[in-house]
Parts: sequence; structure tokens; C-alpha cells
Amino acid sequence: MSHSKSYEFLLKDISILKRVGQKTKRLLKKKKIENLFDVLWHLPQAFVDRSNLIHINKLEVGKICTIRVQVKKYNIPRIRNLPNTVKCEDSTGKINIVFFNSREGYLKKILPINEWVVISGKVNFYNKKYQITNPAYVVPSEKENFVKKIIPRYSLTEGITEKIYRNIVDQVLKKLPTLEEWHNSNILKIFDNKSWKDSILYLHSSKNKLDLQSNYFRRLAYDEILSSFIVLSQIRKKIKKIKKKPKVFEGRLHKKIIENFNFQLTKNQNEIIDEISKDLSSQAKMFRIVQGDVGSGKTIVSLIAAANVIESGYQVAFMAPTEILARQHYLLANEIFNKTKIKTNFLTGKTNYLERKKIISELKEKEINIIFGTHALFQKKIEFNHLGLIIIDEQHKFGVKQRMELSKKGGADCDILLMSATPIPRTLIMTVYGDMDVSRLIEKPSYRKDVTTLSKPEVKINEVIEFIKKETRNGNQIFWVCPLIEESKKLDYEAAIKKFEYLNKIFPYKVGLIHGSLKKEQKEIILKNFLDKSIQILVSTTVIEVGIDFPNANVIVIENSNKFGLSQLHQLRGRVGRGNKQGTCILFYKKNLSDNAKKRIKILKSTNDGFKISEEDMKLRGFGDILGYKQSGIKEFKLADPVHHEDLFRLVEQNIKQIETDVTIISKYDPLLKLYDRADIINEINS
Ligand code: ADP
Ligand code: MG
Repeated sequence: MSHSKSYEFLLKDISILKRVGQKTKRLLKKKKIENLFDVLWHLPQAFVDRSNLIHINKLEVGKICTIRVQVKKYNIPRIRNLPNTVKCEDSTGKINIVFFNSREGYLKKILPINEWVVISGKVNFYNKKYQITNPAYVVPSEKENFVKKIIPRYSLTEGITEKIYRNIVDQVLKKLPTLEEWHNSNILKIFDNKSWKDSILYLHSSKNKLDLQSNYFRRLAYDEILSSFIVLSQIRKKIKKIKKKPKVFEGRLHKKIIENFNFQLTKNQNEIIDEISKDLSSQAKMFRIVQGDVGSGKTIVSLIAAANVIESGYQVAFMAPTEILARQHYLLANEIFNKTKIKTNFLTGKTNYLERKKIISELKEKEINIIFGTHALFQKKIEFNHLGLIIIDEQHKFGVKQRMELSKKGGADCDILLMSATPIPRTLIMTVYGDMDVSRLIEKPSYRKDVTTLSKPEVKINEVIEFIKKETRNGNQIFWVCPLIEESKKLDYEAAIKKFEYLNKIFPYKVGLIHGSLKKEQKEIILKNFLDKSIQILVSTTVIEVGIDFPNANVIVIENSNKFGLSQLHQLRGRVGRGNKQGTCILFYKKNLSDNAKKRIKILKSTNDGFKISEEDMKLRGFGDILGYKQSGIKEFKLADPVHHEDLFRLVEQNIKQIETDVTIISKYDPLLKLYDRADIINEINS
């Protein structure tokens, strides 16, 4: 094996190992273990001390013990469901080894009569006798060393015994290659010069407790973060390399637009407009995301960018995930462009044939400057005339690969601007958006009042109903959210239906119901009814679209609020108080709140800042569950944890800049990228 390619061994299929047949292979696949490298990341959950051989008269009930005994007698009942028992003894006493669901032949093979065997398992006492039920290990006496030690315990798939899995891990660890170091000495020093191989061996060794802050663990976590960031930064570099024709504009339309506002843009909004303007007038293709809470003023910012692009003679396409959202952007644009000559239009899958035909020809003739719509904007038949900017709302529904495809849309001269209303903790920005430039809109327009947040036990529903009566009398609208109790489709909206019926009795003809199993079109109709105020109370599971403006909705009631994570509650709360009236969020809870749920409520009451909330959310839940992260298309980390390794994320961010600028270094990371399974993306961007 050549030294430089020694990592390739780790990419071999699991089936090259002894005792891994088709069945085991299939079971391991369920645990996402397909090659030798994958085996390394299933770290022991715990270690069990089976090292001391104990005489039967010294056994302690309830403990895991290891014994050496002689097999004396079988008791194999011929009645189904009764366990088989094997009577054994040593010089000090007797013990029954009990097996449920075992076959006679198998038992007699592993426990041959009169032979000495070593058995390990939890001891109990039954019918005045010691007994071990379904022992973890039964081995012939001469193989006792396989059992008589501290043994790692793994979380396993059904069908793979600990014994088999240990054997698999041992085989890989024994053959673990020494890899050429990819880090430079400065980085390595931070981890006390622990090599990759030593770190892996350390984590699997029973002598050591799993310690997230040990140099071994941290080195491996660093490797993992680095591999992920390198890929994203390579994508970014690749996109940046695309040369485009810079956009040329003076800001004439921009000026006209803001003169017409009866408010001032915030400092933060102006900063981001400047950043975008720089991107537009540079030679590199823009690939930027604006992140900010719902209502923070992202759309306004992106429309001003659009105006600059239009001024420089290009068209703009503005895409939203649903028709309602697209229409709201379209209406907002018409309002803010009204003193300009910018020509807007609107296209979705439902636009009728004649209208569509007209739009298609107008786009071609440049009689439209900016078009709003759903993904229908990118059907084959639609041809733009100098498309210069694509704006996409609510991008968290896209993954890295989809973003790469997006960047290709519109051709070389087309810039890309994404908007997301999902705030992400600072530590995770690179993880999720490392392929893009990121602008964070943190400051809120001053007119936006914070939503008042209350928590109430469900038994006080009457007080809430009184409050809602008052609100409806004032012409306000109410969201009433009943979260899905079960994952199952059937049960999930029963609670919502019941609540709908209950509220409908109190507020006849004023209540609507929306839930997950409605078709997209049906949902949109109900949302429209709510928008045009033909209903006043909307009962829903959680399907209220992010980003839609319901200016009259200023109360949201959230039942079983403990079912939601912090970020989700914040997103829901963001649906109200969008107009100029004070918004209220009522968190209903059942009697016994967990400490965690209490913390969430406390945090929500204390702040309306989505970025702060996402940080707290991450601390409370770990990052795997954070809203928007799962959809990001990035694999979960195996070891690295943004809560515990925040400093490592920052360190990688610093180092990635250096790696980006030095082309010669990157090949050193080849094994890292290949092993950590990022190579496929790299190949794709190089193709
Ligand atoms: P987002 O896209 O972040 O949800 P929008 O850009 O749609 O936010 O803005 C929400 C509303 O706030 C719009 O009606 C917009 O006109 C208004 N708005 C935006 N920026 C400001 C500001 N600086 N001051 C006052 N109102 C603003
Ligand atoms: Mg918006």
C-alpha cells in the first residue's frame, strides 16, 4: 500500500471484513455504516466492566458479572414462549442461564454439556436461585480474554449483536492506517500534536472516558468542521471566478424610491444595500444571502437592489415559494416603484394561457423590467432579455446543491440574491452558508413594536376567549395554532378540528381551519379568505406560510406551546404585529411544564430578536434540531458540536481564509475531503 494513498483503505466496503455477510451489511447500512471509515464514528456509548471473574457464591444481584462455569443440564420445555434454561455450576454454587427465543441446537452448541464456559451478563435472583437471562457473552473457557475486560457498548441496530459489532470495530482499528498529516504545525500544536490515528484509537479505547474537550476529540472535531468548510469555500471560490459584466448605475431609481417613503431606511438596511451595490458593480458574480427576521425589511432592500439592476439595463426575476407570497412581493413592489417607470408583472402556474403568452412576449421585448412569481418563472418556455438578477425568497428550503444549480441559472451575467427569514446562530453561519456571502439584517425598523408574550395554563381558556372577543370587536384577526400531537397523519389535526368547532360556536361564521393534509390550492384559498378578512380567526396546525403579511392579525394563540422549539415559537410569533397595532402572543400550556419549557417561555418573553433566540435555541437543544438547519442539505456532524466546540468553528473560519488564498495547500487536504465524504461535491463543482 503506498503511503500517500493509505486512506483509501478506509473507503473500502464493509464487506471486506471477516464475518460481514450480506445480512450484516444490510443491517449496518441502516446505521449508515457502509465503508470502514463509517465504522469509526460509532463511538461506544458506554463501557461495561466485565473484567473480574467472580465465583457464584460472591455474585451480586443486579450487577453485570462474568463467571466461569461448567454446563450441567438443559431444560428445554416443549411449550411455546417458555424460556429454555441451562443449569451450570462452579465449585461454589449453581446458576441458571435462561434464554428467551433461542433454538435448542444453538444452545447446545454454545453451551456443550460438561464443558467449561465463560458467561457475562446481568445477575438476578429467581426462585431462590441465581440466574442470568439472555447473557451478553457466552464463550468457551479458552477464549475468556475476549470477554474478561472492559467492553465498549454501542447503540446497535436490531439483529447485530454487541459481539459481532465489536469484532467489526476491532478489525478496523487493528488495520487503521497511519495517514500523512494534513495540518500544519501551528494547528497541530493546538491539539497537543495528536495525530488522526492516535485520536481515533483513543476515542475507542476502553481506558478513556468520552471527553468532548480532550485534545483527541477536539482534533477530530476540527478535522470534521474543516472538511465541511473547505468544500463550501471551494464552491464559493468557483462561483466568484465566474466573470460577469459589471452593472453600471448611478442610483437614480434608488433615490426616487426612497424619496417616496414616509419612513427612513435603517442604518443596517443601508449598509446591506451598499454591500449589494458593490457586488453588482463588481466583475464577480454575486451570490449573497440576506438573513433577517420576518418584517426586518429584507424585501425593501432587495427591491432597491432590483431597481439598480434595472437602471443598468437588465431584467430581474423575483421568485417566492408560494403564490400568495409572490403576490405580496409584487404588490409591495408596485407600491414602492409607483413614482418610477419600472414595469412589473406577475406569473405563476395558474396564470391563464393568453396572459402567459403576453407575458412571455413582453419579457422577450423587454417590456417588463421585473417579474414576480413562483418557480413557474423558470420554465423552459420563458426567455428573458438580459436577465441581470434573480431574487429568491425563503431560501432555507434549498440545499447546497440546489443553490449551485441556481447560481447557474440566468447565465454568467446574472447575479443571485437570496433572502431568508430563518436566523441562524453566528457559529453555524459558515456551516450552512459557507458557499455564499452573508448579510445579516439585525436592526429592526423602529415602527415595529415588540410582540407582547404571555403564558397561560390551558384551564384559563375563558380569560383568553374574553380577550379575543374584544380583539375581534376591534376588527383584529387571530391565529390559533394547534400543533400536531402525533406524527401520524390521521390524528394530527383532530385537535385542530375540535378547536375549530369549539370556536365556531362562540364566533359563528368567523372561523377558518387549515391543516397539513389540505392541498396547496385549498390552503391558499383559506389564507386569502383570512387576508381579505372574510374570516377573523384562523385555526391551524403549523402551516402558516413564513413571510406572508397579515397586517390585521395581531393575536396568536399557541396551544401545547411546549411542543415547539424556541425558534419555531419565534417564527410563529412573527406572524402577528406586522401592522401598526400591538401584537400579542399567548402561549398555552398543559399543567406540568418541564424546566426546559419554562426556560423557553422565559427567553421568548425577554426578547424579540431572532438571532438571539436562535443562539439560545441551539444551547437548549443542540444544533441538529434547529429550524432551517435540517433542510440545509448539509450532513450532520459526527463529532463536532457548535455548542461545545464554538471556538473550533471560529478557528476554522479564520484558517479557511488562508487555505482559500493558497492554491498549493488544498491538495494536502485531499485525504480529509475524500474520507469525510465531501469529495462528491468537490467533483461536481469541478465538472
Ligand atoms: P421582510 O421582507 O424582512 O419581511 P419587508 O421588507 O417586507 O420585510 O418589510 C416589512 C414592512 O416594513 C414593509 O411594509 C415595509 O414597507 C416596511 N419597512 C421596511 N423597512 C422599513 C423601515 N426602515 N422603516 C419603516 N418601515 C419599513
Ligand atoms: Mg417579507
